Amino acid sequence: MAGQLASRPLVVDMVCDVCRIEGFQVERELDEEDAKGPGPGHVSVIATRTEGDDKKQVAFECSESDQQIDTREIEAFRSRLRALRITNGVYVSPKGFTGSAEFVARKLGIELWDLSKLKERFEKISVKEKSRIPSTLPVSRALPERILSSHLENGRVLKPMGWPRLEYRPYYFAEFSIQGKKKALSGGVLVFDGVDGRVCDASMYHGELQGIPSTGFFVECLEIEPSTGSLPELPQEMEMKNTVAVASAGVSEDIIKQKVPQVLREDAKVDPESVNVSGISMLHVPIVTVELGGGQIAYKKIVQATTGKVIWDEAGKCSFCDHPSIAVCENCLRTTCNDHKRVCATCKRRVCEECSRVKGVLNKTVLCSSCDK
Ligand SMILES: [Zn+2]
Ligand SMILES: [Zn+2]
Ligand SMILES: [Zn+2]
Repeated sequence: MAGQLASRPLVVDMVCDVCRIEGFQVERELDEEDAKGPGPGHVSVIATRTEGDDKKQVAFECSESDQQIDTREIEAFRSRLRALRITNGVYVSPKGFTGSAEFVARKLGIELWDLSKLKERFEKISVKEKSRIPSTLPVSRALPERILSSHLENGRVLKPMGWPRLEYRPYYFAEFSIQGKKKALSGGVLVFDGVDGRVCDASMYHGELQGIPSTGFFVECLEIEPSTGSLPELPQEMEMKNTVAVASAGVSEDIIKQKVPQVLREDAKVDPESVNVSGISMLHVPIVTVELGGGQIAYKKIVQATTGKVIWDEAGKCSFCDHPSIAVCENCLRTTCNDHKRVCATCKRRVCEECSRVKGVLNKTVLCSSCDK
């Protein structure tokens, strides 16, 4: 129930944590929907896990009520499951269920969790979490600012579309040295994506090596203290309303160990025989994906959320050429570089070449399409 803020974790929080640790992507109901009351397809949590072509979905109804759940609620939950076309349903009620509710639930194939069952599931996390999420990096407090298009003069024109998505993604940090005849010539670190095994950053600790695939996106994560135990706290703006997922590693440490000499040979022409991999560690790095824009225009942006590095930004280039963007057209929301940016002489808004016109022959004035009427 809204307003019932207890110090203990809310039932729905516990359920979400249980699902995340089991590798599910979790979607919670939003506050807006909550205010309208339960709709036909309203459930507390929808957990989704995809394995290959296989998609498993479970819907949870989480009750904070201080009364036992009765048949009526179970049947109502069942019809909401039907509306969502989800076959697996779990009703969670710390106060338990009436005898007839248990009977109906069995008949309808709905799983029931009371307090002891919920606790049992929840306590498994602390053990499991250490093996599944060994080291998780925190989310930068500056993230909300990094998400917005701050590199653009008028970036605030682009609004977030939907909630940002947060994923804890595993990365392997493989430290290597290159042996000369007598001593180590150089040493550094290669960073690999733990899901698909792609190399995504590199840096040298000592010595020089030309051609290493350095992007600067991840190496500095090594300087951040990882947290163990539960998932780290998120800045307030990111909390509750987002979708959090934990990606599981798709490549083993052994594979990464073999990849290090391969990458160094291909990118930096190093003799693979001289490469020694001294250690591999795995960190879960928070990756945030957001779409910014308005109307029909959406620019995708991906941020490494621990140190706020922008990995991918569709609004980073001018929509008309290949130059870096510096502003966005306030009329059509296309990005512009300095050559394609225009400033309207009347309303002072930044627009693009196509949304403006030059008036006058001697005193040339730029007018945006709204002022040019
Ligand atoms: Zn341009
Ligand atoms: Zn325009
Ligand atoms: Zn104007």
